[in-house]
Amino acid sequence: MEFKVSDVKPPVQIHTCRNCKHRFSGKICNQCGEKIFNEDQLTTKHFFHQVIDFFWHWENKVLKTIKLNFFKPGFITKENINGIRIPYANPVQLYLVVSLVFYLVVTKVGVSDYTPSFGDHHYYGLSGYVAFKWARPLDEKVVNAIDSAWTRKGRVMQHEIQNEINSNLEADSSFKLTGRDNTDSVYIPAGKTNVYAFKQMMGARWTLFHSTVGTYGKTLIFLLLPVIAAILFLFFFKKLKYYGAALILSTHFMVYNLCFFMLHALINQAPRYINENLGGWMMKPFFYVFYNNVTSPVSNFIFGSKFEFMHFIFWMPWLFIAIKRLFNTPWWKNLVISFFLSKVFYFLIYGVLKKIVIAVTIWSMH
Ligand SMILES: [Zn+2]
Repeated sequence: MEFKVSDVKPPVQIHTCRNCKHRFSGKICNQCGEKIFNEDQLTTKHFFHQVIDFFWHWENKVLKTIKLNFFKPGFITKENINGIRIPYANPVQLYLVVSLVFYLVVTKVGVSDYTPSFGDHHYYGLSGYVAFKWARPLDEKVVNAIDSAWTRKGRVMQHEIQNEINSNLEADSSFKLTGRDNTDSVYIPAGKTNVYAFKQMMGARWTLFHSTVGTYGKTLIFLLLPVIAAILFLFFFKKLKYYGAALILSTHFMVYNLCFFMLHALINQAPRYINENLGGWMMKPFFYVFYNNVTSPVSNFIFGSKFEFMHFIFWMPWLFIAIKRLFNTPWWKNLVISFFLSKVFYFLIYGVLKKIVIAVTIWSMH
């Protein structure tokens, strides 16, 4: 038998990458990730196939990751830290998608837990905790700074309104106030225009604040991520090794938190039609056990108010299981850590984030 050189097929087909000129075998360039190309990929069919593929796979991936993150705390984080990343949405994608959905749901449902009212900055100071009594001057400084920014903003607005009035003063030195259609009108004497301007400002400032505060309240939540990561890193730096790994865990925790909050908002919303407070009913058994006549002093001491306790019920189990799965921490130590983390997290949301949101809102008002 005779062999020609052309009969001998190479055991594997070698391609030259169109992007980086690297030579490789298989379907994907192992240097830059470019796929092998053939002209079929230019057909209309292929184009639409890609569109469907993108949404289908991407959505599947994100939904799967959200579900796993919700029901198997710490699992996605562990996979991610161990380098198994292809089957799941990455933390940044995940956070962006979930916070966008959170924004839409919370706006639609109209829940306000993350949207402070003006005045909320007077509550939840650091000095409210026994260990931080000494921080009282700091708390007062923050409250005063926000209050005076609010007053300053008011003065500026009043000044603007006053200027507008002055430019409209009539010959008899009074100010004619007319409605939009000019059918109703009233004269305000020049001496009283400052009172009028003040009242106008009060209403306008309030409206302006409330039209912006919701947006900041729902978007600035990401500011907590590096802080939570820092606290997690403090506890587990030996096992996490990198602060970046702590960031992944804190992002996954926040994604869970936003998911839970959305779910809770929707559950609370649904019964409006049957006129029943379902969210309240869900809490009843817990309150019955933890906040009855006997247990409530203890619970008040450990968890704080019923409102704070409600947060512990969904944060602590997630943290406990995630910490167990990731670090295999002994249960008693884990209990203390997940309790402490929930406590800190609660303070960060109600004591720190709300103040930042209020301050940023005032600062951005114009
Ligand atoms: Zn390449």
